[in-house]
Amino acid sequence: MKRQIFLLITFFIAINLFSQEMTVERVEPPFWWTGMTNSNLQLLIYGTDIYETTPQIDYPGINIKDVVYVQNPNYIFIDLEISKETKPGNFNILFKFNGEVVQSYPYELKERKAGSASRKGFNRSDVIYLLMPDRFANGDPSNDDMPGMLEKANRQNPDGRHGGDIKGIIDHLDYISELGMTALWVNPLVENNNPQYSYHGYAITDFYKIDPRFGSNEDYLKLINECHERDLKVIMDMIFNHCSLYHWFIQDLPMENWVHQFKEFTRTNYRASIIPDQYSSEYDRNKMLSGWFDHHMPDFDQRNELLATYLIQNTIWWIEYAGIDGIRVDTQPYPYKEFISEWSRAIFNEYPNFNIVGEAWLQKEAITAYFQKDAANKDGYNSNIPCITDFPMYFALSSAFNENDSWTEGLASLYYVLAQDFLYADPQNNVIFCDNHDLDRFYSSVGEDLNKWKMGMAFLLTTRGIPMIYYGTEILMTGEANKGHGFIREDFPGGWQGDKKDAFITEGRTSEQNEAYNYLQKLLKWRKDKDVIHYGKLKHFVPEDEVYVYFRYDEDDCIMVAFNNSGHEMKALKTGIFKECMQDYNYAVNIISGEIINYLEALTLPPKSTLILELKK
Ligand code: CA
Repeated sequence: MKRQIFLLITFFIAINLFSQEMTVERVEPPFWWTGMTNSNLQLLIYGTDIYETTPQIDYPGINIKDVVYVQNPNYIFIDLEISKETKPGNFNILFKFNGEVVQSYPYELKERKAGSASRKGFNRSDVIYLLMPDRFANGDPSNDDMPGMLEKANRQNPDGRHGGDIKGIIDHLDYISELGMTALWVNPLVENNNPQYSYHGYAITDFYKIDPRFGSNEDYLKLINECHERDLKVIMDMIFNHCSLYHWFIQDLPMENWVHQFKEFTRTNYRASIIPDQYSSEYDRNKMLSGWFDHHMPDFDQRNELLATYLIQNTIWWIEYAGIDGIRVDTQPYPYKEFISEWSRAIFNEYPNFNIVGEAWLQKEAITAYFQKDAANKDGYNSNIPCITDFPMYFALSSAFNENDSWTEGLASLYYVLAQDFLYADPQNNVIFCDNHDLDRFYSSVGEDLNKWKMGMAFLLTTRGIPMIYYGTEILMTGEANKGHGFIREDFPGGWQGDKKDAFITEGRTSEQNEAYNYLQKLLKWRKDKDVIHYGKLKHFVPEDEVYVYFRYDEDDCIMVAFNNSGHEMKALKTGIFKECMQDYNYAVNIISGEIINYLEALTLPPKSTLILELKK
């Protein structure tokens, strides 16, 4: 009898202790919506020994379909079905142990905004401005160092945090809009609470929270609203290949196969060519897909369905919560390609008119084309990613104006990139660029030659594809990647209180910077409503005698673009060659100078220059 009483007491003490210790620390996604196309929702519940409990939800329309218990007792995953009739509202998720409620966690289903499902993404009419938020403008010095955030600001360190933030971006949206940009891609803003190199944003420690040194989630909403008021679209940068070693769920892994694990650190080989390569070895394939991007970036195993669902829901959460207009997928070829297809399918299932661009840092056209939606791939693979970064075009652009023209070099290198467009399912959806946050700045690539820089901008804004321009290009910022990433991601002058120069205003720029700014602004504003550039056809002529000529045309308009890549010779265009494009036109307007050209038979180009003409009948 005594023994029985003892056991009974022990049992009640155990319950008591258990209910005291057991707390639900996180539920993700933190809230959701009614009226979504997919009626399923999977909640990740995190709390000490939560596996001992049975969850219960009493709310009309919500049904717990399944509860998944995993290796780690601190996690459970709850599969919910939210019926179409479910009303928005608040309820408690109850966690029961031996029939008793030991924890209760409030949850909200918000009402989906009207028109949310039909939102449109960025498109071919856009020009994207890419900026690195830590390096653009510091609108709020009070958030440079925040309690609980491991890395403190140090503007002297090229690899440290400099204090740029969301407020700084909002303060300069008029500048970006006045320059003529129509979309904004900001490098990741979500929390990167890492001891060092935290400024770039690609080592996430919380997928649902804006880094407090950039601002709050509400500040991000404000940024998007302010952008939309200026007709600027917002593209969110997302990462599905890896996260930070300091992410809370990496510190307490739900299960072994959440990430790829090795006995000793194993780095990816960064050879995405392996994915479509029909001769690739298991050894290389495994390294590519399972190796870590870096020491502090564990590599996700997206074959894990719970992780895949977590990442997909996180994306939908941000689209629905923040009202973004597009996504840039970091390192698209690195996650399992089947996951990328599934992820993209899920996004377009909710938002059929949305848009996504995948970063495919690849050398060759054919390999790049493999990763674009509806590619004619031999193995039947379809990424479902509509837009792809055009690195082959970047490589050609970064050297074309420095090279002497030959069969394959100089202007011919641009010609040959375009000549291979048959490989792409939709080359008009390639995102094109002269540089980005990982590459030499374009002004440095062309040896700080303003004429060559103008040729690059002219090409970028008149050829096929969706142009992307890296912040500071318009003021001729320089920097080479091999000196360190910090040097290609320098602070925009004038973004910080007390900066000696303020390049956001005309008076703060040198005459050369203003010449560049004005040239780019003129092109951008002209391009903005030129349907013929956005959607028109392209016809080009094989470069000859250091001259390359192409036309953009549709039923109503025709634009002629000509490049002279000679460093010293004035060139007279042999206009007879271009008869098939020019014969119906009588005169032209030079879109840079505004000059009317009445005699189209005699067109000349100074050395290292571009002529952009609107042909008129
Ligand atoms: Ca700040």
